[in-house]
Amino acid sequence: MARNVPGACEKVEAIYPLLVETYGEPQWRRWLPPVDQLVATILSQQTSSVNQRRAFEALRERFPSWEAVMEAPVEDVQAAIYPAGLSGQKAPRIQEALRAILRERGELNLDFLATMPVDEAQAWLRRLKGVGPKTAAIVLLFTFHRPAFPVDTHIHRIARRVGLVPPHSSAEQTQKLIEAMVEPERYYPLHIMLIQHGREICIARDPRCHICPLQAHCDYYQGLGY
Ligand code: SF4
Repeated sequence: MARNVPGACEKVEAIYPLLVETYGEPQWRRWLPPVDQLVATILSQQTSSVNQRRAFEALRERFPSWEAVMEAPVEDVQAAIYPAGLSGQKAPRIQEALRAILRERGELNLDFLATMPVDEAQAWLRRLKGVGPKTAAIVLLFTFHRPAFPVDTHIHRIARRVGLVPPHSSAEQTQKLIEAMVEPERYYPLHIMLIQHGREICIARDPRCHICPLQAHCDYYQGLGY
């Protein structure tokens, strides 16, 4: 387990209201039913949200149910999700995940995750092929409002630049460290606000530090960090 940097808790306390002031505090809402969210999140891996949405809609239009997706020839699923990219990997992953749910639970339903202890729920999801810590946390947070903090590429970058976590922390370590220092009711709004910040201001190649509200708390800006 990675150890956090001294002062990280104070820093997250300081930046939270600045993010709220800049982006507004998002309220949790269920985006999709659990199995839909799992499939949508597998589709989102290494692609833009526009392409992910296109692929998800095409999949829902092409097949009447998740059972039909599971039983279809893999080439048909692959063709439907082509807009998401890596369809040769994602199609069998989706089918294998659906088959594993049916095998273990007897039905294509993930509602049991709503009450399972959150660590067990994460571990259960991560046993599905192609489901890593981010995908598992998204399913738990977005569909059940369970206390899991998904770390995508934007959040990973910002957390290290600001100095919320040590510079060489992995995404998985970053998830654990942030979960330990943020109140669970803030996981959802913080996740959404940091992604917006990463898309609009703390962009990967050329961060727009001159207009960033987090300057005073940022190691990168102060010349101290990653
Ligand atoms: S000051 Fe720059 S590096 Fe730091 S969070 Fe803002 S945009 Fe990112």
